[in-house]
Amino acid sequence: MSDLIVDPSGDEKKRSYSMLIDGDWRPPTSGRRFETVNPFDGAAWAEIPEGTEADVDAAVGAARAAFDSGPWGKATGTERAAAMRRLADLVERNAEALARIETTDNGKLLRETHTQTKALLGWLQYFAGAADKIEGATIPADKPNYFLYTRHEPVGVVAAITPWNSPLLLLIWKLAPALAAGCTVVVKPAEQTSASTLEFGRLFEAAGFPSGVFNVVTGTGPDCGRALIRHPGVDKVAFTGSTATGIAVMKDAADHLAGVSLELGGKSPNIVFDDADLEEATNGVVAGIFAATGQTCIAGSRLLVQQGIHDDLVARLVERAARIKLGDPLEPATEMGPVAFPEQQAKIVDYLDLGRHEGATVATGGGVPGDASLAGGCFVEPTIFTGVDNGMRIAREEIFGPVLAVIPFADEEEAVRIANDSDFGLAAGVWTGDVRRAHRVAHALRAGTVWVNSYRAVSFAAPFGGFRQSGLGRESGLESIREFTEVKTVWIELSGQTRDPFSIG
Ligand code: NAP
Repeated sequence: MSDLIVDPSGDEKKRSYSMLIDGDWRPPTSGRRFETVNPFDGAAWAEIPEGTEADVDAAVGAARAAFDSGPWGKATGTERAAAMRRLADLVERNAEALARIETTDNGKLLRETHTQTKALLGWLQYFAGAADKIEGATIPADKPNYFLYTRHEPVGVVAAITPWNSPLLLLIWKLAPALAAGCTVVVKPAEQTSASTLEFGRLFEAAGFPSGVFNVVTGTGPDCGRALIRHPGVDKVAFTGSTATGIAVMKDAADHLAGVSLELGGKSPNIVFDDADLEEATNGVVAGIFAATGQTCIAGSRLLVQQGIHDDLVARLVERAARIKLGDPLEPATEMGPVAFPEQQAKIVDYLDLGRHEGATVATGGGVPGDASLAGGCFVEPTIFTGVDNGMRIAREEIFGPVLAVIPFADEEEAVRIANDSDFGLAAGVWTGDVRRAHRVAHALRAGTVWVNSYRAVSFAAPFGGFRQSGLGRESGLESIREFTEVKTVWIELSGQTRDPFSIG
């Protein structure tokens, strides 16, 4: 039996959601809701509350009270871990239902969203395991009359802001370490994809978390999201989204000195050397740019290919791209669904025009598919541009769609130079049969993640984040708990002797 209160089949009349604030499901104080639309068929399938500053204030107040004076603030790590494991059990039973909701909202393949919702479990279990192992240190003091130690205490109320491309996965990257550390959380999901986060809130209640530990406010970024970041009751902001918004978020957080971690955009290079296994590399390049219809921050959107294998690799990619099956993201045979909403489709189509205008050659794709069965959805053809120079805008700007820019290089030095010539530094792929080269290039690349002979693998155990304009801080991996803790140093005077009050001790 599903633990979701709402049946995910989607065939009842349009759903109308409320926000989760202090354990209650509350309608928006604005009295307004907006529609959320399925990008495959254009159907408005649910209504999302338009949250305002007043709702944000209530949610932050609830999170603040839960942290400052509720049972969560006093819970031991072992107790927090037990609650997180109960939540993990509920997630496991509801993983498919949550995935169907995400697919209905953002058009990503069910096989991708289901893999992601099943993966939530791993993050919860991993960080539950860490919750009672957040240890300080006993410091050998240079002053014999002191006993000195540190405690890693929860930072307090966390504001989590998530984008539409992987709503729950990117939430859990923040939520699991925050809960393990003992924080309370207010999340504002993207306006296009709020439903799965609201449904997830029901599991929280059922797992027996105290009221106010996890709150969901919904609405637009500039109103609801900004009010959350600017709220003085927020101690830490964990944001995933575009670089432009991330910069604005950091400025707003600075006004009240909230800590900030930012997971932002990318223009990641996938570098194929002439000693690589071309079949594997072809598959990896396809995975890098056409999986998730290219709507992933780690998209391998620049293919750097060594001159001697350029034509062979491009031919293989064109052949595979032309065979990609576009269609209903809920169908298991579909390989690429629509992009998430019409504005995103229009933005990608503008980049296709720009690429032609800049002088690149369309090797395959290049527009909106003509197939009548896809006419109701936000589809874009898998597109490969050849003859791209790294100075072109299609090689420098994040398109966030199924568009690959192919750039040839002569040797290792040139490959590294082109790869690093970017405002971003989120991820990179290296395809080579030479183990020495693999390590050399991995070390030389300015990127937060480098995959060798692979692409687009993530794990709860692996720190993830960006260099340069791809972000600040790391999510996942044990060290990410530090993003949600403050270090307190405790000095215990041992001698009982009176000291000189006018000199530093
Ligand atoms: P976005 O426009 O920056 O929005 C991200 C979130 O921020 C949404 O919830 C948005 O709200 C909210 N927001 C917008 N303006 C805000 C403001 N002034 N104050 C507070 N919140 C505000 O990004 P997106 O288009 O949704 O997502 C795509 C971007 O995310 C891409 O650049 C992608 O690379 C990046 N991304 C990065 C990672 C990573 O881990 N590095 C992962 C996935 C995606 P509304 O949209 O609801 O208005």
